[in-house]
Amino acid sequence: MPNLPIYLDNSATTPVDPRVVEKMLPWLTSLFGNPASSSHAFGREARAAVEAARGAVARLINAGSQEIIWTSGATESNNLALKGAALAQAARGRHLVSVQTEHNAVLDTLRDLETRGHTVTLLAPQINGLLDLNQFEAALRPDTSVVSVMLVNNEIGVIQDIAAIGAICRARGILLHVDAAQATGKVAIDVKTLPVDLMSLTAHKTYGPKGIGALYVRKGVAALAPQMHGGGHERGMRSGTLATHQIVGMGECFRIAGEEMAVEVPRLRALRDKLHRGLSALDCVRVNGDMQQRIANNLNISVMLPDCDQMIALLTDVAVSSASACMGGGASHVLQALHGGAAAPNAIRITVGRFNTTEEIDFALNYLTQKIRECQARKTAPALA
Ligand SMILES: *Cc1c(COP(=O)(O)O)cnc(C)c1O
Repeated sequence: MPNLPIYLDNSATTPVDPRVVEKMLPWLTSLFGNPASSSHAFGREARAAVEAARGAVARLINAGSQEIIWTSGATESNNLALKGAALAQAARGRHLVSVQTEHNAVLDTLRDLETRGHTVTLLAPQINGLLDLNQFEAALRPDTSVVSVMLVNNEIGVIQDIAAIGAICRARGILLHVDAAQATGKVAIDVKTLPVDLMSLTAHKTYGPKGIGALYVRKGVAALAPQMHGGGHERGMRSGTLATHQIVGMGECFRIAGEEMAVEVPRLRALRDKLHRGLSALDCVRVNGDMQQRIANNLNISVMLPDCDQMIALLTDVAVSSASACMGGGASHVLQALHGGAAAPNAIRITVGRFNTTEEIDFALNYLTQKIRECQARKTAPALA
């Protein structure tokens, strides 16, 4: 019997890998120097650690170290990328294009830009969650300056065709921003071949600490308008004393991701597929989002029974998501977008991770099957007199 509840919400956040914790600890105790203090050894050793971590983050996406800017997470990276680029590119045009299924850190940032004189086109995805490339191309205008499309969706795990989207943007000289918060360690990323200009990254979805992220800014892209002013850190694009321990943690979790992806992804896929096979054997279960163009550890199902939201709210033995954690439990704008605005019924997102065992998956599958069957029985039982 596994320890309960079983954590199956690895797209909301992941536990920090113990190897990452180990690597972070000295930077909270004896090695406390400010990486900006270049006049003594305390500062210089912190700077060396920060630069080593920058190299590790860069390597996972095949970027150059000088193309990585530290931030507090993907929310800040998205804000810096979109506001920073929209303002820097305002002379070229003030039209931005994105997708309805983006994370709120992109959508709310775009809404803010709209109140400041920019116009935004938000495209609807196809029913499988993927963007129609013809529709995308048709939305671009001469005054389009920035496009933002996420690599992997946080709710349904679908992988957008960033290579094709980027090629279309590149041909028109439009900057492409990609939110890759859910992609690191799940899909191979190579910015040398992928036509992406800006990419948001975060540590805590890839077994690192919360509160640290990065923005990839392609060499040659005009400087972004800073959103945090101060000491001119990070080439003036993001001021603030660098959080050495967090940065070391992000470097280590990205290094591990790069090293272990080839083994980890197939293992997670096998666990996810077991859940997928088991649950889709129930005739009231429908899968949300494309199953092919999708990361290996995500399953998102709708239970097509009326009033089973109570059952979902009371799943005490498995920690799954009934709506994206980032939405504070509200209705999913992602699933609504897939279904042309109609509310998506009773969705459950199950995301397996590095520390889940086969025993846990077997237990979770039995448990969920039983709960859904109970719900089904209640719906089909004759009403009591
Ligand atoms: C989690 C997440 C974010 C927010 O990242 P933080 O580091 O928590 O700020 C942004 N975009 C996507 C797709 C995410 O999954």
